[in-house]
Amino acid sequence: MSDAPNPSSQVKYKRVLLKISGEALMGDQGYGLHPPTVARIAAEVKAVHDLGVEICMVIGGGNIFRGLQGSAQGMERTTADYMGMLATVMNALAMQAALEALRIHTRVISAIPMDQVCEPYIRRRAVRHLEKMRVCIFAAGTGNPFFTTDTAGALRAVEMGCEAIFKGTKVDGIYDKDPKKFDDAKRYDTITYDEALIKNLKVMDASALALARDNDLPIIVFSLDEPGGLVGILRGEGRFTLVHG
Ligand code: UDP
Repeated sequence: MSDAPNPSSQVKYKRVLLKISGEALMGDQGYGLHPPTVARIAAEVKAVHDLGVEICMVIGGGNIFRGLQGSAQGMERTTADYMGMLATVMNALAMQAALEALRIHTRVISAIPMDQVCEPYIRRRAVRHLEKMRVCIFAAGTGNPFFTTDTAGALRAVEMGCEAIFKGTKVDGIYDKDPKKFDDAKRYDTITYDEALIKNLKVMDASALALARDNDLPIIVFSLDEPGGLVGILRGEGRFTLVHG
């Protein structure tokens, strides 16, 4: 397992939270986990870890199950949301395995206790893991139905004292309209929380944005599809959108 590296002056952040959707782990498949894709993202995380950055991760569950999907099929919403939260635990375990294959110490920490599988969420304990350079993968969202993993990401980032939340997506930032559908879509270099909320730009859901705004937590939206991109983004290089106050 790797030793704790010295904090590097190359990056401006000491502690960050990386939020990725479950769909980012499925590669070109329509469902589930694509191990080479999980391994590629783990390698990106390792590159950042090697610079001495303390890393939290929140991974969604949309590649397996979303609560809204279940409730649209007649399932009670809360039950469907619990299923979605369990899906995030599977993704977290897959990411843990991929990081451990790279000799990075990790902990999966679940908002819903499941002691045989992973740790329960205890804030002080999680902070201590970060101080020891263990990557903390927060699973099961907030533990509550009617929320999303974006909100869980903002919440954990604030609780852990992260300096920023990095949201990896399929595009290199926030656009005024879908750049995959419209050639004239305009990318924002920076945007305020309120603008993103008012324009309903689908950066993150409203509760996540409001939590970030109320706690002055910058959100950096970038593309996860750019190989080696994460380290560059942490150095402030490359293309991204910064959401700020
Ligand atoms: N979920 C929930 N509470 C939370 C976080 C997630 O109920 O605090 C459920 C919800 O059903 C959601 C699913 O887990 O649809 C998967 O999370 P999300 O949709 O955020 O995943 P992503 O879109 O990031 O892959």
